[in-house]
Amino acid sequence: MNELLVISGKGGTGKTSLTAAFARLAENVVLADCDVDAADLHLLLAPEIRERHEFYSGQQAQINQLDCTVCGICNALCRFNAIELNKNNNSEFSYTINSARCEGCGVCVRFCPENAITSQTRHCGQWMVSDTAYGPMVHAKLDVAAENSGKLVTTVRDEARRIAQEQNRSMILIDGPPGIGCPVIASLTGVNKVLIVTEPTLSGEHDLKRVLDLADHFGIPAAVCVNKWDINPSITDSIEAETIKRGSLVAGKIPWDNSFTVAQLQAKTILEVGNEQIVNSINSIWECLTSSLLIGTEKHV
Ligand code: SF4
Ligand code: SF4
Repeated sequence: MNELLVISGKGGTGKTSLTAAFARLAENVVLADCDVDAADLHLLLAPEIRERHEFYSGQQAQINQLDCTVCGICNALCRFNAIELNKNNNSEFSYTINSARCEGCGVCVRFCPENAITSQTRHCGQWMVSDTAYGPMVHAKLDVAAENSGKLVTTVRDEARRIAQEQNRSMILIDGPPGIGCPVIASLTGVNKVLIVTEPTLSGEHDLKRVLDLADHFGIPAAVCVNKWDINPSITDSIEAETIKRGSLVAGKIPWDNSFTVAQLQAKTILEVGNEQIVNSINSIWECLTSSLLIGTEKHV
């Protein structure tokens, strides 16, 4: 079973649109949306949710108001300014926890003289298993300001693997998060290949190098595709030269076209709305990727 991850150095490069197009081309695939901070693969693939699970991670303090004497010790000890003093309409004071700030360190729990504070498991979001026209899909939604997105990514990947094994699927296609942070690392580890989608701009080229460094650090064979290559052919040439110099695979390039926007507005894949040139470019990139996966996981020069 192959795991193919699609990522980008920054958001807005067309990564998810390409993943949705690949979902249409792939056979016997399980889809995993690991861009849990801004999941939007579901907007293009219209999944029908069949399982929904709550996601808990980390700890958060909670004050039992009946036991609290409003002494203020917890407020003074919290280094994250997470305990706030409130005054109600009857001029009565109380302390409450600001959940967005609480780091779950447990100091307030330890030192409250009334044992009025408990540590609770924090609700951070949900993950779902759905059916799409192209295969089962595991996706998630992180709560606003919730952390531990790396752990949620791992949960999504584990479930995708479980389904792939159970249903004897030959590929897991992963829409990864942008950037080089913890969720990207959680998406990257153990995949057979990573496709980095970039744009021919100075910042795109800079971000690409950082992502290539990351893939190299984890020993994951990387392929690069340049979206909107014709908006700056000379930077496209430079990106392709850098990719080859590093021993990674130039998977192809896609010209600028508004079909990416049209596909998003119509909740379809680019293959359904794109012109012949766009469709051919994407088919060619997919063939390049699948051939390289069949050959193996070594780097290609
Ligand atoms: S330390 Fe305990 S008793 Fe004092 S304000 Fe905080 S929760 Fe209330
Ligand atoms: S658990 Fe730590 S961060 Fe959270 S409110 Fe208590 S002292 Fe502050």
